[in-house]
Amino acid sequence: MSSKVNLLGMTRPQMEDFFESIGEKRFRAHQVMKWIHFFGADDFEAMTNLGKALRAKLSETAEIRGPKVALEHFSNDGTRKWVVELDQGNKVETVFIPDGKRGTLCVSSQVGCALDCSFCSTGKQGFHRDLTVAEIIGQMWIAQRSFGAPDNRGIRNITNVVMMGMGEPLLNFENVISAMELMKDDLGYGVAKKRLTLSTSGVVPKMYELYDRIDVALAVSLHAPNDALRDVLVPVNKKYPLSELMAACREYVDKFPDTRRVTMEYVLIDGVNDKYEHAEQLIELLQNVPSKINLIPFNPFPNSGYKRPNGMRIKAFQDRLMKAGFVTTIRTTRGDDIDAACGQLVGKVQDRTRRSAQWQAKVAAKGKKIPVQQTGS
Ligand code: SAH
Ligand code: SF4
Repeated sequence: MSSKVNLLGMTRPQMEDFFESIGEKRFRAHQVMKWIHFFGADDFEAMTNLGKALRAKLSETAEIRGPKVALEHFSNDGTRKWVVELDQGNKVETVFIPDGKRGTLCVSSQVGCALDCSFCSTGKQGFHRDLTVAEIIGQMWIAQRSFGAPDNRGIRNITNVVMMGMGEPLLNFENVISAMELMKDDLGYGVAKKRLTLSTSGVVPKMYELYDRIDVALAVSLHAPNDALRDVLVPVNKKYPLSELMAACREYVDKFPDTRRVTMEYVLIDGVNDKYEHAEQLIELLQNVPSKINLIPFNPFPNSGYKRPNGMRIKAFQDRLMKAGFVTTIRTTRGDDIDAACGQLVGKVQDRTRRSAQWQAKVAAKGKKIPVQQTGS
């Protein structure tokens, strides 16, 4: 393990403090941040606007260490996926999804997830550990490097970021906030606040804290319109039921002076939460919550026990919500050839936790085939 400080995960104030601590002017931090995040540098020698002596000093005390890329896959439709290798075989995935002028990067915040939503392959792996700031922003750094530095008009390939990869971002709160600060910073990745979305399954107390710390767009993984069903699909609902979750959403929106809405994510699962009555309940539930709805056709993984509804059912669900006046989109699946659906990234990433073993044993007991989970190549 290196004893040098890693500059990759430092926010602007931290970087300024670091330069002051080594007897240098604070503005040096700005030059170095631009090298790291704009030009993707990992070598101080490349930083030609720093003096030789400073470059030597930095090389002795500091480093720019991104996570290792275990696998990189670029799809024909422009989607890019990276399997990023952390320590001790821990891996997470990052996906870039282009859509016209927009390019969205889906970023992971934890290895695995403790919240165990019944339809989510990350949940099946159990929780392993939080990512550091350098590991979170490192995903962005890797993706940005794959495109090269933004052009001289500053036009970037990555215009949007969604914290919708592996893990529950609000349960890795401090590191996620710092990483999102770097994403927004002009000396970082310059992502506009409306284009930076944090998705949570509803960790209510942290939703209240979020507002005080950073201004980003909020998405909530709703997935069910009543507590009985949500308790099964999103078990954190037992701790923070819908009434509390909706109150937190309302307050989040109310606190900002601008008009904004919470994006309600709703994974449609055949015969489980996609019936007419569910749409009716959803309309009722969201009556006083400024929101838009994003329907996500369930993405199957081995032995999930769930199915994706057919196109007609999905459309009928959307139509009902639209008739009631809700802006309702259906998330299209991209990067199918590289298995890169956002929010469902990790089906093939190695998992080593007890929950995973328990789940596989349960599947085996039912006489089904146990999926071999490995990083594909
Ligand atoms: N933990 C956070 C963020 C990561 S999940 C959260 O739950 O919001 C990102 C999104 O992908 C969530 O809306 C999640 O519910 C969804 N998702 C998880 N598994 C899925 C699957 N099998 N098919 C479709 N969407 C899925
Ligand atoms: Fe965790 Fe989100 Fe998956 Fe639920 S949907 S298990 S909160 S990553």
